[in-house]
Amino acid sequence: MTTYRQSHRLRDVRYDVRGPILTEAMRLEAEGHDVLRLNLGNMRPFGLQARPEIVEAVATGLDDAQAYSDSRGIRPAREAVADHYRRLGVDGVSGDDVFLGNGVSELITLTLQALVNPGDEILVPAPDYPTWTGAVNLTGGVPVHYLADESDGWNPSLEDIESKVTDRTTALVMINPNNPTGAVYSEQTVAGMADIARRHGLVLLSDEIYEELVFGDARHHHAARAAGDDVLCLTFGGLSKAYRVCGYRAGWVVATGPLDDAADLLEGITLLSNMRVCPNVTGQYAIPVALSADSPLPGDVVDPDGRLERQLELTAEALNAIPGVSCVPPRGALYCFPRIDRAMYGIDDDEEFVLDLLRSKHVLVTHGTGFNWPEPDHFRIVCLPDAEVLGRAVESIADYLAARRTT
Ligand code: PLP
Repeated sequence: MTTYRQSHRLRDVRYDVRGPILTEAMRLEAEGHDVLRLNLGNMRPFGLQARPEIVEAVATGLDDAQAYSDSRGIRPAREAVADHYRRLGVDGVSGDDVFLGNGVSELITLTLQALVNPGDEILVPAPDYPTWTGAVNLTGGVPVHYLADESDGWNPSLEDIESKVTDRTTALVMINPNNPTGAVYSEQTVAGMADIARRHGLVLLSDEIYEELVFGDARHHHAARAAGDDVLCLTFGGLSKAYRVCGYRAGWVVATGPLDDAADLLEGITLLSNMRVCPNVTGQYAIPVALSADSPLPGDVVDPDGRLERQLELTAEALNAIPGVSCVPPRGALYCFPRIDRAMYGIDDDEEFVLDLLRSKHVLVTHGTGFNWPEPDHFRIVCLPDAEVLGRAVESIADYLAARRTT
């Protein structure tokens, strides 16, 4: 009998936030249990709606969206993205430097396919958003993880990055604001990473999908500004998070820096964009409206009444009150990434821990090793439900941990 096998290229490709833990949650739901899903940064299920004009723009575009678009995306959307970056102080960006895609996810895979040869090393943070490591593995390249330093607000360690550059290193990935840690990198860190890319001739790949989701006195610093004219920087962004339309799959990648020197790579990205034909056209219509200079400033619309900021703060506080749990307070994005004392709770396998918590308390969080964190001593919790629900979720986690405490 023939068995149909997946390709060897998938051997090291993982995306655990939708992996076995979700299958188990769905099984429990099918049995009639209410599972609190805190595994995905999906806005709408938690009552975080897009501004009506964004939805209307898509509805108005539906008729025209029957046609394929330019493979890099419709011109008004690409111009709106270019304008957005120029307003943020990234000089000289034009609509021709913008590629739209079905979310940042597709563009990560597409860009790495265009850039990476088998054996090339790509510096990726640990922990990371796991699409990055997975997409590097898919190319036959080698993800080399550098340390995000928990004791330094999860800022990447520049020394560790520097020490891991070899003559096979092609690119340096930064994720800022960060998923899963909630870190917003300091200006020195962003400048330092751009400088490493400059000195070693690396492409800077900067995932800034949470750029507007920064709280308190945190400030987001754009890699493209730090990279300037002499470092090729590909900045990834989109409407899934601050603009709350995850399902529209509206993302972009913008090329800045020495673009003449990058003509061959950009041709490769264009080729793969052509092969993909075009991104979903309906979602593209949301972009000019979402990014319009006439809209209220993102701060007013991103987090009205400070709901998200409060939820992050309360979650971190409640986690820190559990014995043997510590959480660096997030300064951006949507997540807390607490550390658990493994010895105190007898945890050898963090996926097992998360599955057991799920079965016992019907709360779904994601294990830290699913974000390529090397030790089974962290988990990620999505802070999107309102404070009361999050408070109860953390209480359930505390009860569960108390029951399995070994020391
Ligand atoms: N990059 C990061 C850091 C993310 O957290 C996510 C989604 O959670 C994505 C990319 C994917 O976003 P998109 O919906 O644009 O594919």
